[in-house]
Amino acid sequence: MSGNLAFKRTRIAPTPSGYLHLGNAFSFAITVALAQQTGARIFLRIDDLDRERVRREYIEDIFETLDYLELPWDEGPKNYNEYETIYSQIHRLDLYHEALHSLRERDLVFACDCSRLDVLRRDAQGVYSGTCRKKKLPLGGVAYNWRLDTLAENTLAIRGLDGNTQYTILPTSMRYFVVRRKHGAPAYQLASVIDDVHYGVDFVVRGADLWESTLAQHYLANVQGYMGFLNSIFFHHPLLKSNSDSKLSKSAGATSIKYLREQGKTKAEVYQMIGHMLGLKHPISSWEELTP
Ligand SMILES: [Zn+2]
Repeated sequence: MSGNLAFKRTRIAPTPSGYLHLGNAFSFAITVALAQQTGARIFLRIDDLDRERVRREYIEDIFETLDYLELPWDEGPKNYNEYETIYSQIHRLDLYHEALHSLRERDLVFACDCSRLDVLRRDAQGVYSGTCRKKKLPLGGVAYNWRLDTLAENTLAIRGLDGNTQYTILPTSMRYFVVRRKHGAPAYQLASVIDDVHYGVDFVVRGADLWESTLAQHYLANVQGYMGFLNSIFFHHPLLKSNSDSKLSKSAGATSIKYLREQGKTKAEVYQMIGHMLGLKHPISSWEELTP
């Protein structure tokens, strides 16, 4: 699969909006395993722009989880202090605003005053139909989102770890996705792609639930001419399912790593749980045994 491939850099990019769970641990572990197989350095990036949800204990939990599961990383913060003083996304706001400015200059964004509820009222799936595209609301208004004008049906080419390139277009769920949130905060898709460009990431490992995010980010990278991002290799790993077959979510519940640690589970036992949830034929007790 990845036998002939070599990469410069991949990343682990948790969002500190809750305690990490087994699904996050698996995502980190498969990233680290693939990095080792392909010679990529691992950069730890903490996606903390959503300020209302970030809590110090969630950031500490990231370091504690990586240490507990013996997951190594080469670059990025080694502790809370380095995160806060050097690596928080707050320190890269100028980069994000520069990109937003360039989109605005080229007339590629429009202001939108629709609430989440407004969007849901018009479409039960929450698909935004471009309601504000022709309204010409002022982009300077603090109460407005900025949405990317995605009317052009650009072909997106996603290079996979298996050597195949998948050609597609932006899905309707991502049409006119938000690049700047109300009150001026850069949105997740924009910050994520700019960080990957900024740090020279050429290999992205993420959950299958982020496939549509990958497409939105490719669309943006196309518009902005971020060639490094467009040429990156992507691997979307399967998601761990709980017994009830639902996607794991962040909580302090029975699948949080913090809970398992406090219950006295060993590192090997946690990897065994992950292997079991993946349905692997042979039990595993470390990240080294994971393969794509
Ligand atoms: Zn709108």
